[in-house]
Amino acid sequence: MRKFLTWRKTISGKLTSIYLLMFIIVLLLLNTAVYLGLNYFLKNNARNSLDKTMNFLSTRLLQYNYYDTDLMEEISRSEGNIYFRVLSTNRNIRFQSNLLEDVEIPVTQGYQELKIGDRSFIYTTRFILDRGIFIGYIQLVREMTSEYSFLRSLLLVITVTSLLGAFAAIITAHTITRKTLRPIISIMDTAKEISGSDISRRLEISGPEDELTELTRTFNSMLDRLEKAFQGQRQFVSDASHELRTPISVIQGYANLLDRWGKEEVAVRDEAIEAIKKEAANMKTLVESLLFLARGDGNKISINKSQFYLDELIEEVVQETLLITDKLKVSTTGLEKMLINADRELIKQMLRIFIDNGIKYTPAGGELRIGLAREDNWALLTVEDTGIGIPEEALPHIFERFYRVDKSRSEKKGAGLGLAIARWIIEKHHGQVEIFSSPGHGTRVLVRLPFAGFQQ
Ligand code: ADP
Repeated sequence: MRKFLTWRKTISGKLTSIYLLMFIIVLLLLNTAVYLGLNYFLKNNARNSLDKTMNFLSTRLLQYNYYDTDLMEEISRSEGNIYFRVLSTNRNIRFQSNLLEDVEIPVTQGYQELKIGDRSFIYTTRFILDRGIFIGYIQLVREMTSEYSFLRSLLLVITVTSLLGAFAAIITAHTITRKTLRPIISIMDTAKEISGSDISRRLEISGPEDELTELTRTFNSMLDRLEKAFQGQRQFVSDASHELRTPISVIQGYANLLDRWGKEEVAVRDEAIEAIKKEAANMKTLVESLLFLARGDGNKISINKSQFYLDELIEEVVQETLLITDKLKVSTTGLEKMLINADRELIKQMLRIFIDNGIKYTPAGGELRIGLAREDNWALLTVEDTGIGIPEEALPHIFERFYRVDKSRSEKKGAGLGLAIARWIIEKHHGQVEIFSSPGHGTRVLVRLPFAGFQQ
């Protein structure tokens, strides 16, 4: 019972029920129409033959005043299984067919049913009028046994074939809907088998092109995307752990050194403290970057946009940069007044990333130029350096997380997260970024941000 109830809730169960219901309604209407039609036809036929014989007999009775029972019996029989009884005005039987002897036939109007033994009849009664004077009754009885038995057999045949038909309909509807919906069931089964650790399973695409093959394809492509996202996530965690292991080992090493020698030897102690401080700072930067990207992926970073002048922000960052580095010539070229609508903090962070990279990857004595111009509806920011550049084969990868061209190229180590963060910020502002570079000659970063206003 429980299984039936849950089956009724499934799509194939519902479709089968609807199909079955419609089939039963059609069958019922059709069979009822056939049965009632035939029933009407047979009874009507019998009544007509009764009327016909009645007319003939009454005329005959009056015309010849002829009471020959045998003849009347013959005449009435010629209409097929019709028997008669003639009554006087006070309802005494004057004469009748042999069959009707000892049978009580009430005098009533219309057509009535009558049973003699196990045989069925219908009968009708009429007044006999002779030139307007009532002289008695005539009753005609017609046998209906074979008609009724035919109708009973018909009802049985109809019921049995309807039940068989309904049963066949259940089986067919269930088989067809199950077959049609098989891809959905296989999607369900696959979805159940898929877990976080194994997302490599895919559904087989078979059968004719229809909505279900489309659904299968959509499901598979969703799995492709999920698998890629899962892999990315796993890679991110493994890269992050790897990056964190180095500073932790260094800190651990220096802590051991301090423990063994640091108490007596001041030089060792100072060196260890300095190294620990440096590594802790590196770790802090790394953890902050990781946190930024993780929160970014989870849409947890709120973007607080406001209108501000990008040229003023560039000046501010450049001034701060000049305070901490003097190995390069940092300059701004032709900064146009440019109003943008953006998150000031995030744009500043992005600027820092490009400027820091310029400084990191440009040998002392090199140059770093920052420019700002208008290009159509964009504010076009350029950060250009005369540094070591980026090899062509590395350019497509530099925005990937943890990607570094060559870990030994700079003395100031980065984790390869800066450009990934910068790109995230630019995309969140509906901007674009491009990097052009030639090894040995320098790198040029182009950032386009939607432009909000222009100062005349
Ligand atoms: P990192 O923290 O290592 O600098 P980024 O994501 O900022 O990470 O940069 C990725 C890689 O791209 C760097 O490791 C570096 O090799 C290369 N790169 C980025 N900016 C420059 C630049 N201005 N000049 C040369 N190489 C660069």
